[in-house]
Order: sequence, then C-alpha cells, then structure tokens
Amino acid sequence: MKTIGILGGMSAASTQIYYRELCALTRGRLGGLHSPDLLIRSLDFVPIAQLQAADRWEEAGQILNTAARALEQGGAGLLILATNTMHKLAGPMMQGVSIPLLHIADATAQAIRAQGLRRPGLMATAFTMEQAFYTDRLRAAGLEVVLPGADDRATTHRIIYDELCREIVTEESRAAYEGIAARLMAAGADCLILGCTEVGMLLHAGNVGVPVFDTTLVHCAAALDLAMS
Ligand code: GLU
Repeated sequence: MKTIGILGGMSAASTQIYYRELCALTRGRLGGLHSPDLLIRSLDFVPIAQLQAADRWEEAGQILNTAARALEQGGAGLLILATNTMHKLAGPMMQGVSIPLLHIADATAQAIRAQGLRRPGLMATAFTMEQAFYTDRLRAAGLEVVLPGADDRATTHRIIYDELCREIVTEESRAAYEGIAARLMAAGADCLILGCTEVGMLLHAGNVGVPVFDTTLVHCAAALDLAMS
C-alpha cells in the first residue's frame, strides 16, 4: 500500500474524521490488525483562515506548497488535501511536487456519476459555492450544480467557520442545514454534496431526502483505492 499524505488541519475537526474513516475502511477491507499507512501534516487553521478572509490566497498557496513538499520528502506516495475550499490552490500547492494529488471534486463527481445522478445540490463555504474553481470542475464532469440562495449560502458558511470547525454541533444548526437541503431538493437537486469536510457533522443520509455525498468519506474511499492499486 502506498503511503497516503494528508494535508489537513483545515480544520482539525475534519482531519480527525479523515483519520477515523481511513482506519475504519482499511480494517474493513483488509481485516485483522490492518491500519492505513499515513502521513498527516496538520496545519494551524488560524493563519490559513486569516489569509482566506483577507483574500491573500497566494501566501496560503505557499504554505500549502511547503507542506506538500514535506509530505513527499517524508515518503508519501500520493496526497490528499483534507478541505474542499483549499483546492482553490491545488495548482500552486503542487508546484514542484511529483506525487499525485487526488482532487476532492474529481472523486466526488465520479461517485455521483457512478450512481447515475446529475444535479447535485452543493453546501460548502462561500468560497467553494461562489468561486469557479470547484463548481466548474463539477460541471466539466457533466454535473449540473444547484446552489443555495444568497441567505442560505451565508448561513451555510457562517455555521462552518463559527461552529463546525470549532467542533460545535447544535440541533439548531442541524435544523437550519436540513432546511437548506430541503430547499435545494425543491429546486431540483437529485442528490446533495456535503462540499465542506465538516458538513457531515450535521447532515447525512438519515436526515436528507436525496442521496448524500459526504466529500470527506468519498475522498477517503477514493484515496484508499488509489493507495492500494
Ligand atoms: N473544511 C472546509 C472545506 O472543506 C472549510 C475550511 C477551509 O476553509 O478549509 O472547505
């Protein structure tokens, strides 16, 4: 099995889910005492979030690039970036890095297409929903993305940064997210992308009325496929 390099900490709340999920999947596939071969580089999220908010993406890209190089030098055979939003910087991050990056939007689009679905609703940070780097990638894979309205996008974004990234889970926010998911379905979504690696803390197949693609879980399964291929 190749060593999977996880570039995480964005936030630490979801990097823990990556670790738990990769361990569970590996045990499920290989049994016994097996566990995944991993290198986890977990960044402090404060400087990253500050650079995002200040629109200083180039500096954030340099931080990701330094971390990606360190993971390669440490022996990683492939990389996963454990955040949807920071895939905006996938290009700068991978400069001078020769191991592959498994792009979270590609893994998600492939999982959706494999189930014959076409019109995913997307709940994510405002960066991911409103900028082209992510939705264009989904569209290029043949998907028609359904976005929440402006108020729902703002609520989705606020709950991610103010609560989920701080490991705060409330029933009030769960109800707000369920309402947003319902409005996406009413707008014609045939499935829902949890397009932020923390959204699965509130939404899942049990409380959404269409198939749910949790990018964290999809990304882990695809990474393990690649590491074992
Ligand atoms: N983990 C989140 C995502 O998947 C948001 C935090 C970040 O901005 O990286 O987009």
